[in-house]
Amino acid sequence: MCYVFITGGVVSSLGKGIISGSLGALLEARGYRVSCMKLDPYINVDPGTMSPQEHGEVYVTEDGAETDLDLGHYERFMKHNLRRENSITSGQVYAEVIEKERRGDYLGATVQVIPHITDSIQDKIEEVGKNTDIVLVEVGGTVGDIESLPFLEAIRQMRMRVGYESVIYLHLTLLPFIKSAGEMNTKPTQHSVKEMRSIGIQPDILICRAERELTSKEREKIGLFTNVASDSVISVPDVDSIYKIPLVLAEQSVDQQVQKHFGLQNKASELDLSAWKNLIEKERSMQAGPSIAIIGKYAKSKDAYKSLIEAVKHASIALGRKVGIQVIDAETLSDTRAEEFLSPLDGIIIAGGFGNRGTEGKIQAIKWARENNLPCLGICLGMQLAIVEFFRHVIKLPDANSTEFNKATENPVVCLIEELKTRQSNKHHMGGTMRLGSGNDTLLEGSKVHSIYKESIISERHRHRYEVNPDYLEKLEAAGCIVSGRSEQEGYIDVIELTDHPWFIGCQYHPEFNSKPLSPHPLFISFVDHANTHYNRNT
Ligand code: GLN
Repeated sequence: MCYVFITGGVVSSLGKGIISGSLGALLEARGYRVSCMKLDPYINVDPGTMSPQEHGEVYVTEDGAETDLDLGHYERFMKHNLRRENSITSGQVYAEVIEKERRGDYLGATVQVIPHITDSIQDKIEEVGKNTDIVLVEVGGTVGDIESLPFLEAIRQMRMRVGYESVIYLHLTLLPFIKSAGEMNTKPTQHSVKEMRSIGIQPDILICRAERELTSKEREKIGLFTNVASDSVISVPDVDSIYKIPLVLAEQSVDQQVQKHFGLQNKASELDLSAWKNLIEKERSMQAGPSIAIIGKYAKSKDAYKSLIEAVKHASIALGRKVGIQVIDAETLSDTRAEEFLSPLDGIIIAGGFGNRGTEGKIQAIKWARENNLPCLGICLGMQLAIVEFFRHVIKLPDANSTEFNKATENPVVCLIEELKTRQSNKHHMGGTMRLGSGNDTLLEGSKVHSIYKESIISERHRHRYEVNPDYLEKLEAAGCIVSGRSEQEGYIDVIELTDHPWFIGCQYHPEFNSKPLSPHPLFISFVDHANTHYNRNT
């Protein structure tokens, strides 16, 4: 088992997740079994409770773990999907160590960061290493942060634990362009590596992010000051598509350097990157296409809808249409303003979410889309609100609501799982009452979704507590909103669609977590395709 540790310096948000996923894609393409993991320094046990506004979306793995959005990057770049153990946080590690201490497992020892916390971190990394050839381990945060110290110490010790040749350190830095001097400055990189060395880690490969490509002279200079071979000073300039990064790394033979260090080069298969090259070519030659909007309450954070935006991009590339994507703050939408915001659009996605803020705006958007034949995809809360809207305005039950927002409503058309009489199984009810992770759905033959998926049984990921109330099913279907997908085991209402609308689908699951650039999701392809039809009609 070999380990690639990826750390970051100078500033945050340099794209460590994208670099990790891209390197993972290259090593996978070379025929290795690769896994990626993220070590997050915060004290939260998982990001499930953190605001997407601050921390970005909560990514859900197939086995139902609520994880950092970087796991989404890894899965999108790689074929191999990840599990709960691929995301660890300081909070998780401390909680476990403290629990063991309370049980008396440490037999009277003084429990300390070194060795107890750092050992526990290394054990978890080794656990992921089982059944894989190479594990890529990204350390969250930036070198110099107090919080990440135990993780950095653990990865330093890892080289002693598993041997020099089984561990390689990659360090990602930024070279700021100083306008007045007209050059890229290498100083912050030098300091960042110095900081790494002061904790005992000499990076083997430096990944240098900058506005433009580094010259060989700049690479040599950086190499000299940081004690890294100049060939291992890798230049990653700003690119217009993140999906170019595997090619950027391959051109500078990062995968080969990693293999060479591990002594694996003889086992490798030829690197076939034709699928990535085709993707880039398709992306480059896209024609003008539809404008779509995500209606959500985290309009200020680009990362809050990361997987959703990527899923739309995947579909957009697959169809060869350049889709304009924007996020509209649901709170700005009202009865009178929906038209102003939505009439220039060719499709809307009603995003998921928790809590009341923005829900009335989302309902207004749904109403406008329903009445004006605008393609509309409601995801999770988006689907629940589509149900609320339908009951309020079509079936004329003005107080219809989800019990998440009005416990006392006379018409609880969406309610808690426990409140459902149909509940039979506890299979997905990990994390309290939350339905989390992958589950199978049966699709109704002859329905729109069935023709989209071209399958009767699908598997998708969930993250919600509330469900559409089956007591209202008859009224719903009689009025033209049919249930076209149900969970295989419990019969929960998981997909709905309007029969007299060109494209109006709501799904209780999150299809965006199952879309990859090399295998775009059929639901998004169909949605973007219909948005494109709308666009063509109006241009
Ligand atoms: N708040 C809703 C629920 O818990 C929807 C969750 C979501 O959109 N992810 O069911």
